[in-house]
Amino acid sequence: MKKPTPSNSRKINYIKWIWLCFLVISISGCNRIVQKPIEKSNPNLIIILVDDMGYGDVGFNGCKDIPTPNIDRIAQRGVTFTNGYVTWGACGPSRAGMITGRYQDRFGFSRNPLFAPNDPNQGLPLSEETLASVLKRADYKTVALGKWHLGAHPSQRPLQRGFDHFFGFLTGGHRYFPEEWTLQDAYAVTQQFDAYKTKLLDDEIRIEETEYLTDALSREAVNYVKELKDHPFFMYLAYNAPHTPLQATEKYLNRFKHIKERKRRIYAAMVSAIDDGVGLLLDELEASNIDDHTLIVFLSDNGGPERTNGSDNGPLRGQKGTLFEGGVRVPFAMQWPGRIPAGSVYDFPVSSLDIFSTFIAQAQKKVTLKNEVDGVNLLPYITGKKSGFPHEQLFWRIYDKQHTAIRAGNKKLFVSQDSSFVYDLQNDLSESINLLPGQKETGLKLEKIYQDWSMNIIDPVFLGLGQNKEYNQLHPDRFGRPEK
Ligand code: CA
Repeated sequence: MKKPTPSNSRKINYIKWIWLCFLVISISGCNRIVQKPIEKSNPNLIIILVDDMGYGDVGFNGCKDIPTPNIDRIAQRGVTFTNGYVTWGACGPSRAGMITGRYQDRFGFSRNPLFAPNDPNQGLPLSEETLASVLKRADYKTVALGKWHLGAHPSQRPLQRGFDHFFGFLTGGHRYFPEEWTLQDAYAVTQQFDAYKTKLLDDEIRIEETEYLTDALSREAVNYVKELKDHPFFMYLAYNAPHTPLQATEKYLNRFKHIKERKRRIYAAMVSAIDDGVGLLLDELEASNIDDHTLIVFLSDNGGPERTNGSDNGPLRGQKGTLFEGGVRVPFAMQWPGRIPAGSVYDFPVSSLDIFSTFIAQAQKKVTLKNEVDGVNLLPYITGKKSGFPHEQLFWRIYDKQHTAIRAGNKKLFVSQDSSFVYDLQNDLSESINLLPGQKETGLKLEKIYQDWSMNIIDPVFLGLGQNKEYNQLHPDRFGRPEK
């Protein structure tokens, strides 16, 4: 055996040194994989909010004439909430409740806001913080897509309310075909529903867009997943479909030639466009390998306005704008593979208010909230760690109609200007039998609980859609100033 020469010996030491370095780098590399930085252990959080979709218009709630295989994937891989509620029977206040985790009546957001880009009071009061603001403090990237409807004033827009990015429009609805987006900006709007015709905003820049609106929002959602997949993100994907105007492309309309009723046919096409978009988003999460690291909630912002857009609230009485179940009980499902048992069904009442608390509970970095919230973290309930009702009661108020409602257990008290009703929702889902005459004590008890709750709510802080004319008289300068 040859003895190592001094030069060979140096060479061997050199090789040993290289091996040692390689070993150290490998071990530290392994450590990087095992000990993920805190921000990477935060799950991604996604809200898919649709607009004016009926309770009965998804496959997981029994819809027969509109296939929704992709929306159903969320329910099949997670949980269906059969008693999932929003906090109001129409768009704006429902969104204000969900995005703050607080009953919107606490801060006077009790009407649908007007499109008033010069008025800082038409929108979410600055006393409130959004889910995006909180998650941003917990090291999340945040993006809002689609309908905003929480204020058009420069101080109220998504980038001022906690979102890093925004792609969409500011008002309560929008036309769907790009050729109809003829107004350059808020400055060009001269009446309330003209805002449906503005060009879309990309962050704060008005852009030229060429796709059908629902498809454009889905595309952006997919692109943001690709862009943000290496960092925990919160995505608020707020489709305005299937809210009016009823507009769909041939691609989707062709799927529903068998539906004879015109409104229902176009509505079905619009729902189908959403479903395709949800499919693209779910596929991208899987392709990016972050599917099991992402909590997704799907819901509608209120029940379907059946006569207006052809929606169907299934067995539920009433529709958008009412406090019957058809106004406030919505399609509602949640998935988190590996954390929420696939195919589960949860029957106790839950609220859109709970999304806020459920989401912030998943962030590793605990942040202090500015305000008291009304929701609860639903995860322990869904997984069986906690039993019983997540909420002793849920409350609703439509200030301008003087309608109120409370649900406690399976009993519901609905009070309108001239009558009161008690329903047993377990045995009378369609609210057809008023039990009040025989159950006056139940009525009084629920009324008392409602009155106690109402001590903490305030009157509306702005005029709303129902006061459009009055608002115009009070604000002759409502339009006509360039946006900043
Ligand atoms: Ca709505």
